[in-house]
Amino acid sequence: MEIPVAYSLLLLLLHLQIFTSESQSSPPTVCILGSGIGGSSVAHFLRTYSDPSQPQVGSIRIFERHGVVGGRMATVTVAGDTFESGGSILHPKNYHVLNFTKYLNLTVKKPSAESDSSFGIWDGNKFVFKTLTSNCRLQILRKIVSIANSVLIFLRYGFSLFRMENFVEGSVNNFLKYYEGLESRPVFEDVEQMLKWSGLFNLTTRTLEEELTDAGLSTTLIQELVTVITRINYGQSVSMSGLAGAVSLAGSGGNLWSVEGGNWQMAAGLINCSNVELHLGEEIDSLSHFGEQYDLKTTKGTNYSCEVVVVATPLDELNIHFVPGISIPPRKLQHTHTTFIRGLLNLSYFGFRSLSDIPELVGTIETSVVPFSSISILKRHSDHDMTYKMFSRSQMEDDLLDQIFSVRNETIKIDWAAYPVYQAPEVFAPLVLDGRHLYYVNAFENAASTMEASAVSAENIARLILSRLTFEARPVSHLGSARDTSKMHSEL
Ligand SMILES: Cc1cc2nc3c(=O)[nH]c(=O)nc-3n(C[C@H](O)[C@H](O)[C@H](O)COP(=O)(O)OP(=O)(O)OC[C@H]3O[C@@H](n4cnc5c(N)ncnc54)[C@H](O)[C@@H]3O)c2cc1C
Repeated sequence: MEIPVAYSLLLLLLHLQIFTSESQSSPPTVCILGSGIGGSSVAHFLRTYSDPSQPQVGSIRIFERHGVVGGRMATVTVAGDTFESGGSILHPKNYHVLNFTKYLNLTVKKPSAESDSSFGIWDGNKFVFKTLTSNCRLQILRKIVSIANSVLIFLRYGFSLFRMENFVEGSVNNFLKYYEGLESRPVFEDVEQMLKWSGLFNLTTRTLEEELTDAGLSTTLIQELVTVITRINYGQSVSMSGLAGAVSLAGSGGNLWSVEGGNWQMAAGLINCSNVELHLGEEIDSLSHFGEQYDLKTTKGTNYSCEVVVVATPLDELNIHFVPGISIPPRKLQHTHTTFIRGLLNLSYFGFRSLSDIPELVGTIETSVVPFSSISILKRHSDHDMTYKMFSRSQMEDDLLDQIFSVRNETIKIDWAAYPVYQAPEVFAPLVLDGRHLYYVNAFENAASTMEASAVSAENIARLILSRLTFEARPVSHLGSARDTSKMHSEL
């Protein structure tokens, strides 16, 4: 009897030895919290930049608390039509997302006749500015109205408009540095360093209002048009930080686009193509570091272990329990309430007699008497039946909606923990939360919150992970000091 027992023990020992040596040499597992554009891009860039002959990362697991991927990229269906409910518009120079769209064979949806749509600035009592409406189908007449509107805008805001354009163009050009080749672009260890390198850091230290005043913009332009844009894009005023403000203004220019069928398909496609183990409906509740590993526990009590963890979601309103604890600067999230209404606006609310007097996009200025940030027409089903999208800082109660709309056939309300409340000077959380292998994509969101900004941060995080893993995998004699970061990043 003793021989078989000894034999089994020997087999077990051998097996354990093989298992241990295999697990020691096998590349580390990466766990990503969040399946938005940030988390999916990290997976994509880890696979893209990993050495195919000797991959630095092994399995990649993505955990998503919801039953669908995409996070703040989501769609809503109103009376059979699908619309973006979260991140909707992309800039023509958002090169990562543009590349994802091409790589995944998705279709770019060009802007419709949006640029010709009428626009007005509502102060709660009257429109302080309104462009002309063109309901004419004739192209030539539409063109004439469009030119007349440009003249009207110029008459109100003058040369300040060109100064605003220069300000935005300068910021966009600085942002383009993040697409420079890998040889000339460093791997960044913190957000401040990342922003200083591109020349954007100073914009985070002052408010948008201060920046625009220094750039020579008139008070009227800042308090009207600029305010309308920051309220629509970030639900905030011109006292937000200058960089987020510049990004917001860039998001109001021409040639904006989206992905046909929904921007969320970028996240879905990247996950599909990156050999990822996707855990839908699994919310990470706690994250503990032991030895060389992180133990992740879901709210359902399941445990997973990984050598590298990437947090690809804002931590500000989450209750994830970290052991040992982490320290990040306090940050508030701006809640944006997005309300979709199929129906008709109430003429008397705006003091008009004809529906054509109400602009297709109603923007608002900073005043306590206006309960919403904007209302825009998404689809005109007939002259008396439209689908509208409304942004507000607090939930639109039904009795208030009944004052603003004379007909409401369908109403959908979404409360987004949308983006950071931007303030100058911005303070940034670390990209590496624990000095080891716990990374935070959304630390960059204090610079600006856009789908592209998440992808830019994700690309840097992927490079940072690979460079740190490569450095650690070297033989001891080559290591030098344990955290000689200049050497560490020079190769990626
Ligand atoms: C109303 C609105 C309008 C916007 N408009 C635009 C726009 O026009 N253009 C633009 O570029 N950007 C826009 N944005 C911003 C843009 O959508 C975001 O910056 C971007 O989508 C953020 O992506 P992310 O992957 O970093 O985070 P998210 O998309 O928030 O992804 C995080 C994911 O993590 C999951 N998660 C959270 N906690 C856990 C956990 N404990 N365990 C597992 N999973 C977890 C969440 O469910 C979520 O799916 C808008 C945002 C909103 C809300």
